[in-house]
This record gives sequence, C-alpha cells and structure tokens, in this order.
Amino acid sequence: MADLPGIVVTGASGRMGQMLARSIAASDRARLVACIEREGHPWIGRDIGECMGGAAMGVLVTDDPLEAFAKAQGVVDFTAPAATVGFAALAAQARLVHVIGTTGLEPADLEKLEAASRHAVIVRAGNMSLGVNLLVRMTQKIAAALDEDWDVEVVEAHHRMKVDAPSGTALMLGRAAAEGRGISLEDHMDSGRHGITGARKRGDIGFSAIRGGDVVGEHDVIFAADGERVVLRHLATDRGIFARGALRAVLWGQGQKPGQYDMMDVLGL
Ligand code: NAP
Repeated sequence: MADLPGIVVTGASGRMGQMLARSIAASDRARLVACIEREGHPWIGRDIGECMGGAAMGVLVTDDPLEAFAKAQGVVDFTAPAATVGFAALAAQARLVHVIGTTGLEPADLEKLEAASRHAVIVRAGNMSLGVNLLVRMTQKIAAALDEDWDVEVVEAHHRMKVDAPSGTALMLGRAAAEGRGISLEDHMDSGRHGITGARKRGDIGFSAIRGGDVVGEHDVIFAADGERVVLRHLATDRGIFARGALRAVLWGQGQKPGQYDMMDVLGL
C-alpha cells in the first residue's frame, strides 16, 4: 500500500471533489493522502469520509496545501481558476503531477500553468472522460475524410443549471472537426440560430444547445449529406467518468518528463 502513489484532492467538498475522493480511496492503484479545502471551511480538520456522510477513511481535510503536497506524488484539482493557478505553483515546487479538470481558465492563467509545467507534469483537459476524448479523435478523423458536401452539426444537452453554451466539450468537438478539415473554427462557427437565418453556409460548423432537468452531458456530432447521415454520440450519465479519467491521468503522469499534457496523451489517442 505504502508504495502506491499518494494523491491529494483539492476542493474536496465540491461535486467533483467528493467524487474524486471516493474514487481514489476505493482504488487499488493509488492512495488518498489528503484533501484540501479553503481556510475557514467547516470540513477542515475532519475526516473526509465522515464529512461526506459515510464511514471514516482515515484522511483529514486540511487548508494547508504545502503540508498535504509534501506527502504526495500527485494532486487532482477540479476547483476554480484562481485556486488552480495557486496550486500549480506549489505542485511544481513539490514536483507533483498536477491533474487539472478546472475549466474557464483565462490566457493569463494558462501562462502561469506554462511556467509551472517547466518543473512538473501537468495534465489538463476540459473533459476527462475516455468516451469524449475518443469522440473528439473520431470527429477529427471523419471530418478529415469527408468533404464539405457533409454538413457538420454539434448538438449538446445539459442540466438546467448550466450557465454557458455551447459547452466546453461541444467546442472541443467543433474544434476537432475544424482541425480535421484544416479550417479555423472561429471563422466557420454557426451557433444560436434564430429567426430568418438564411440557408446554411457551406463549410460551417453548427452548434445547438438543449438545457433541462439533471442531464449530466450529451453530445452528438452529426455529419449530414444528401441522402445519408452519420451520427456520433456520447452520453454521460454519471460524473464518475471524469473522476476515473483524472485518476488514470495522475497515474500516467508519474515518471513523465515535465511539461503540459492532455487526455489524448494519457489515452495514447
Ligand atoms: P463545485 O461543486 O463548485 O466544486 C468546486 C470546489 O472547489 C468547491 O468545493 C470550492 O469550494 C473549491 N474551491 C474553490 N476555490 C478553492 C480554493 N482556493 N481552495 C480550495 N478549494 C477551493 O464545482 P464542480 O462541479 O466540482 O466543478 C469544479 C470544476 O471542475 C469546474 O471548473 C468544472 O467546470 C470542472 N469540471 C471539469 C470536468 C472535466 O472533465 N475536466 C468535469 C466536471 C467538472 P467553495 O465551495 O468554498 O468555493
């Protein structure tokens, strides 16, 4: 047990933080060594298992990342951009593998991650699921094989609380289609159609968003030509898929050279 990589989970009380703490504690390939929450959080100093309403796991929640990182080989971080940038500097000092699921990072944040990745391994992806990353790669390959007689449309559905559209994953898929075609997504993006839009422009990549209920995330990439359609579909029904991807990433990162990687590297896609 002691020789398994020790992993820290940040933002441990969050939706993903709790999922990650459970997944890592249950894994026979890694050890959960600490959980981090911000200063003043009611979970600080308590056992993470008990905080989540279950049995004790023997792992305490702390607000001291330095102390937590000193006993770990990796950190899995699904929090917020400002927190992630701070954790990246500390993880680099401690030479930990830093797996980042946090979305919404701005260019200035990305520059700081770039600096941290000179000293440590960072694996970052807006979607850590194996299935979505496979879908991204397939979308790119199919778009490369088909010409503009095939209209590309990305359709996504998410829960009613989601505040942005198209989803980050829909954009990843659209970008993959654009890359496959050798065009820029920004110049060919058609989203939010309403009213008299005129006919579809040849070569555009269309986006549509559905919002409702508790949908975790659904994405279709449609290639539509005269007389036939190809539809690639990914349905997420459980946030555990992101946690499993993140665990795979933090294990893969052990022993890699410092630098920035994504799930395509982890999955060898
Ligand atoms: P959430 O439920 O709001 O959890 C975020 C957690 O991070 C909260 O517990 C929050 O604490 C904590 N946090 C924020 N700043 C912190 C700091 N400075 N120190 C310690 N903890 C801090 O959100 P979520 O649904 O778990 O999502 C978290 C992030 O992961 C989002 O960016 C989301 O888009 C992303 N995500 C990515 C993937 C993927 O596959 N890449 C999948 C799902 C979600 P407070 O409540 O005290 O603010």
